[in-house]
Amino acid sequence: MEYQTSSNVANEKATMVNVPITVAKGDGIGPEIMDATLKILTAAGARLDIEEIEVGEKVYLSGNTSGISEESWNSIRRTKIFLKAPITTPQGGGYKSLNVTTRKMLGLYSNVRPCMSFHPYIETKHPNMDLVIIRENEEDLYAGIEHQQTDEVVQCLKLISRPGCERIVRYAFEYARQNGRKKVTCFTKDNIMKATDGLFHKVFDEVGAEYPEIEKEHWIVDIGAAKLADTPEAFDVIVTLNLYGDILSDVAAQIAGSVGIAGSANIGTEVAMFEAIHGSAPRRAGQDMANPSGLLQGAIMMLVHIGQTDVAEKIQNAWLRTMEDGVHTYDIFKEGVSKEKVGTSAFADAVIARLGQKPAHLKTVEYSSSTPAKPFVYKRKEAAEKELVGIDVFVHWRGTEPDELAAIAQRANDDCLQLSMISNRGIKVWPHGFRETFCTDHWRLRFTCNEKDHLKIHNKMISRFLDRVTDAGLEYVKTEHLFKFNGVEAFSLGQGQ
Ligand code: NAD
Repeated sequence: MEYQTSSNVANEKATMVNVPITVAKGDGIGPEIMDATLKILTAAGARLDIEEIEVGEKVYLSGNTSGISEESWNSIRRTKIFLKAPITTPQGGGYKSLNVTTRKMLGLYSNVRPCMSFHPYIETKHPNMDLVIIRENEEDLYAGIEHQQTDEVVQCLKLISRPGCERIVRYAFEYARQNGRKKVTCFTKDNIMKATDGLFHKVFDEVGAEYPEIEKEHWIVDIGAAKLADTPEAFDVIVTLNLYGDILSDVAAQIAGSVGIAGSANIGTEVAMFEAIHGSAPRRAGQDMANPSGLLQGAIMMLVHIGQTDVAEKIQNAWLRTMEDGVHTYDIFKEGVSKEKVGTSAFADAVIARLGQKPAHLKTVEYSSSTPAKPFVYKRKEAAEKELVGIDVFVHWRGTEPDELAAIAQRANDDCLQLSMISNRGIKVWPHGFRETFCTDHWRLRFTCNEKDHLKIHNKMISRFLDRVTDAGLEYVKTEHLFKFNGVEAFSLGQGQ
């Protein structure tokens, strides 16, 4: 197992002096697995100065909807290294997920999740699995921009940016190069989402061309996910968008053996956060049952990141030996394979007892103090020629007949903008729609203009045009400008158009 040190703080910290880190014990099983992890780190001689902060449920319930205080932010921004146990986000009540907030506020754009099997010591159907999922961590549907626009329709905005794609894709290739990985696979759904997922795929092809020694492939995410669940040994490094990466990394960790054994690193250009991939498992809390291995793996990634590869190796080799010796927590305990079922703290003691030992059969780890990857600096491209060619006006209309809506909407037509299409949930329903298509109360009216009139459209005209839509008797709830970039239409057609 390897892990790339990508932070510009790594080398500075690869000394014998203590490194300040911020630690949060979290909720549910968090305090138990964090105590076990810190006990192992201390016994192994990790050179750390720990600043503990309180985040999560208690902070939320004290009335802070972000789940973290100003002083805690200051600690993380000062130490730049955050080891975090899982936290519970209370349901409802406007509480924002602290995990998502932390990743975005601190610019932790890359989520690195190694998933490998430890056959035959941890039961898995995939004995040769050894892959790393590199998940974009800030964009996609996780922008969390959601609105209800009509009685029947809510929406979530999927935002994908070129800088976002470039930095995660480049990170994946750099990771592969530094860790001697042979192949990078990109997962998208660009057969449907041609603009958003299409951009991710395009950037993958562009950036990938700079890494000729690395094999590249692209899978549509649905069949790719099926392949991953069935034949994970076919993959090496996977780079993908936020939502797909979130789902697939849980699947990958689970089929490797258990979600309880996978750690993750959230890497930014300045700050990095390390954690287990699982949640706070409240049903298991306070019972000294949970497996601390996921958080321990996160902590090992942290040690490599800050340059303490000697300690990281010592712990990982002892952990592998513990696995081989069959000292297992309940989640991976298997009659006939495991030897001893232990709780959280006894598991930590078992790892500590093996510090200095190496695995007898599993591969001993050696973490190279690899040169940190150059921080990625995005160079904004030259602005494209941008031309406004029309507008989509979304209206809340409780009627059912598209022809009737078209007649009303056409009253807004002026000598430049003309109604050209109506769709409902993306499906074209006018002109020439199907009687069978189910329609909600959320309609998109597409108004476009002739090529010769393009130059006439500008935002002031759009404002006046929207007054015409209101005067026609329609309630608009959202608009989208229709642009051409360098002469190419930069919006999707209605399905069926
Ligand atoms: P979960 O990962 O907490 O637990 C799911 C199940 O997996 C548990 O019931 C347990 O059987 C098993 N499990 C998880 N971790 C284990 C461990 N270390 N040892 C043994 N078994 C383990 O998922 P959930 O129940 O969907 O979420 C619970 C809470 O955690 C929610 O509030 C959620 O928002 C939060 N959560 C936090 C994080 C995070 O802080 N990074 C991540 C995911 C979920």
